[in-house]
Amino acid sequence: MNRRDAIRLGAGAFVGAAATLERAGKTHLFAQGGPQVVNPTPPPATDPRYPMPPKWNRELRQLAPNVYAYAQGGGPGISAAGVSNAAIIAGRDYLLAIDALQGPVPARSFIAAAKKATGKDVARLVLTHHHGDHVNGNQFFTQAEILSHPYCRSEVQKAIPNTPKMWMPTPGVAEMAEERRLVPPTVTFKDDLVYDIGGTEVQFRCVGPAHTWGDVVAYLPQHKIVFLGDVGFFWVAPYANNSYITKWIDVCNAILGWDADVLVPGHGPIAGKKELAEMRDYFQVLGVEARKRYDAKMPPGVASAEIRLGRFDNWIGPERLIMDTVRWYAEWNGTLTPDYNANAVREATIEYNEVKAREKKVSEMIPLDRMDAIAEAV
Ligand SMILES: [Zn+2]
Repeated sequence: MNRRDAIRLGAGAFVGAAATLERAGKTHLFAQGGPQVVNPTPPPATDPRYPMPPKWNRELRQLAPNVYAYAQGGGPGISAAGVSNAAIIAGRDYLLAIDALQGPVPARSFIAAAKKATGKDVARLVLTHHHGDHVNGNQFFTQAEILSHPYCRSEVQKAIPNTPKMWMPTPGVAEMAEERRLVPPTVTFKDDLVYDIGGTEVQFRCVGPAHTWGDVVAYLPQHKIVFLGDVGFFWVAPYANNSYITKWIDVCNAILGWDADVLVPGHGPIAGKKELAEMRDYFQVLGVEARKRYDAKMPPGVASAEIRLGRFDNWIGPERLIMDTVRWYAEWNGTLTPDYNANAVREATIEYNEVKAREKKVSEMIPLDRMDAIAEAV
C-alpha cells in the first residue's frame, strides 16, 4: 500500500465514522422491540422540480353537523412518525371517537377539544388498526367501550407484555412520567358495522388486508365523508411494514368509487379523492421501479438507494421507500405475512447505507493532484 492509498482509506474511514455518529444521534420513539433499528443515512433526496408538501395545523375541524376530524399538524421538516389523525361523531348524549392517538399529550388534547366543541364525553372508541400511534392513547378514554377488527385486538394483546409500565417525557407525546397501560379492545367485528349516532349513519367497513390485515374505515354516506385510518397517507410516504400493497391499491380503487368528497387520512392533511389516488400512484410508481430491479436480482436495499420517485420524493418520510420496497419484494418472492419483517428491513437499510456511503466517498474523493501534495507533505 502506498501513501496515497493509505490517505484514501483514511478518508473512507472518516466518512464511515461520521455516518455512524449521525446514526447514533437519532432516537427511535416508536420502535417496538425487534432488532436494533438502523437509520437510512442520508435519507432519499428531495426533487426540486416538484412541489413540497403543504404545511397543516393541529385542529378539531367540523366537517358536517356533529362530525369532526382531529388533525395533528405537520409539513415539510416536521417528523410524521407517530403523528396521526382521529375523529369524533357526536350523538345526543355521547361521542363516538375514531382512534386514540399515540400518547397522553395528543389523546388528552383531542379529548379536551372534543369536549369543548360538543360538551360531551366519549362512550365508544373504534380503532382503525393496531399501530401504536392509533391505540397507545386508549387508556385515556376511561369511560369508553373499545371496538376493533379481531386482528387489531389480537395484535394489541400481543403488544401488551412488551409495553413499558411508564410514559417517559417525550416531546409531543408525554409531558411527564406517568403510568402507562395498553388497553385492548373488548368488542370485535369482522363484517361491516353500522351505527346511527343521533341520526348520523356511520358505516364501519372492514377493508383489510391493505395497510394491515385488520383495517377499518368509516364511511358517512349522508355527508360523503370517509375516515380512512392508515389506508390514507396524504403527502406523507406510506408506511407498509404490515401491508399487502397489491390489495391496498385495490382498496384505494374501491374507495375512489364511493360517493365521497372529503377524505380524512391517518397521516397528512384533510383532503379528497385526488390525494388518495396520489398515494395509490406512489405505490404503483414504486412497484414498477422496484420490479425492474427485483427481476434483475438486485437486493431491495440497493434498489431503494437507486430508485427515484419523481414528485413522491418530496413526501414526508422519504426513507419509507426502503420498507415499502422490502414489502413489494416479499409479495413477489412469496414470503409476505401480516407481520413486520424487521430483519429484512434492517438488512435492506444496511445495504442502502452502504451504497450511499460509497456514493459519498466518491463525491468527496480528494482530487489526485491535491492528494499528491498531501502525500509529499507527510
Ligand atoms: Zn398504521
